Amino acid sequence: METIHTIQEMRQLRARFRAAGRAVGFIPTMGALHDGHLSLVTAARQECSHVVMSVYVNPTQFAPNEDFSRYPRPFELDRARAEEAGCDVLFAPTDAEMYPARFASYVNVGDVTERLEGVLRPDHYRGVATVVLKLINIVQPEKAYFGQKDAQQVVVIRKMVDELNVPVALEVVPTLRHCDGVVMSSRNVFLTAREREHAPVISQGLQRARDAFQAGARDATVLCDIVRECYERSGAFKVEYIAVADAQTFEEVAAVDRPTLLLVSCKTPESGTRLLDNVVLDGAR
Ligand code: AMP
Repeated sequence: METIHTIQEMRQLRARFRAAGRAVGFIPTMGALHDGHLSLVTAARQECSHVVMSVYVNPTQFAPNEDFSRYPRPFELDRARAEEAGCDVLFAPTDAEMYPARFASYVNVGDVTERLEGVLRPDHYRGVATVVLKLINIVQPEKAYFGQKDAQQVVVIRKMVDELNVPVALEVVPTLRHCDGVVMSSRNVFLTAREREHAPVISQGLQRARDAFQAGARDATVLCDIVRECYERSGAFKVEYIAVADAQTFEEVAAVDRPTLLLVSCKTPESGTRLLDNVVLDGAR
């Protein structure tokens, strides 16, 4: 695996792949790699002859009060994991490379970035869309891989790619969980032992609502209340939102009468870690 830090080197490597007629699969990450990230590599390996992963903690998607400076950065471990999983190239640019002085071009994807996560993190998706577009322009992959774990991010990027005619195919990979149902996430390292013990309640609440959906419940309030009751009974988290949203627009809906997502975000009381999860509730139109 080659590890490169500059845009120029990445472009040269890309030109070599193109000359050899090789399809490139790309996985943008912020590092602190776990098996969830590596499942994206596995998917890319199956479909592409070359796999490029980026590891870059993007400052423009963090608000000043968020965890940018303490976000885990175990770079040598990431390098070993990426190589073992089958990456051919690890692209780890510096901030100066990505955001030179007087940088001022940002991508705004509109309404979808202002809902749910966008309410709690107002400029987050502007930073995400900007860095993802930059990385896609640098790597120029045939396919780019994203996790369903970050469902709203997938919708934002899909809209950006469609509306700005970005020549890449997006592939979405299912959420990988620990065996107790907890979503694998780089931020789980922040959880205290007690918070980690309670964390399975997050997916259990969603599972209960999904069971009710499968038994015929379609009212979004009823489904959200099932989840809320489960979380309140545990008393382990502060609920930030529980919502049923249209899978394409992320507008909240009153009834599951189309493809939707049930999305939750909770904050833990001791470490203040945000735990996000979602399930698909695919109501017939
Ligand atoms: P991050 O490093 O958190 O920005 O994540 C990089 C990519 O990996 C994003 O597309 C995430 O949605 C995806 N990802 C992170 N965790 C998981 C997981 N547990 N299962 C599937 N994909 C994931």
